Amino acid sequence: MKIAIYPGSFDPVTKGHIDILKNGAEIFDKVIIAVAKNSEKNAFLSVAERVALIKESVKDIENVEVDSFDGLTIEYAKKRGAQVILRGLRAVSDFEYEMQLSQANSALSSDIKTIFLITKPKYNFISSRTIKEIYLNNGDISKFVPECVCKFLMNKKQP
Ligand code: ADP
Repeated sequence: MKIAIYPGSFDPVTKGHIDILKNGAEIFDKVIIAVAKNSEKNAFLSVAERVALIKESVKDIENVEVDSFDGLTIEYAKKRGAQVILRGLRAVSDFEYEMQLSQANSALSSDIKTIFLITKPKYNFISSRTIKEIYLNNGDISKFVPECVCKFLMNKKQP
């Protein structure tokens, strides 16, 4: 069974993340999307909120599991029996950071490979950071995030 983990902050999950996840779920037997707990510092949403929103967004995809993890991604991948770390690429700006991360992970454990998927052009500019900016300035985020995220944020009191 080919298992991939899709780790990240997902603060909050966007349609760009979901696009990568859906494509990953077509390639692998199982994809575990996992919120990194070390991204809690200075976070917008709690890990529990992020996990709940991802669960709601992916409830129709059978071979996807939602989880959170502490510590090194590579150790979490091993613990879950995953052979692959899935990451998304938008623009050249993502490339350098992602390449370093992937090479560091492969130096730590060469058994686990990182695979990158490129998002659809319409999601290329979407980042959690941009979503937060638009939301905090009362803009419309409905085109960029799953419906449940939009509803959740609309009901959430602005900080
Ligand atoms: P991290 O803090 O680990 O970068 P993110 O939640 O920002 O976590 O992103 C998780 C992964 O999803 C990263 O590989 C990132 O490049 C990718 N990603 C983020 N937004 C998009 C998008 N709009 N399209 C494709 N991939 C994306």
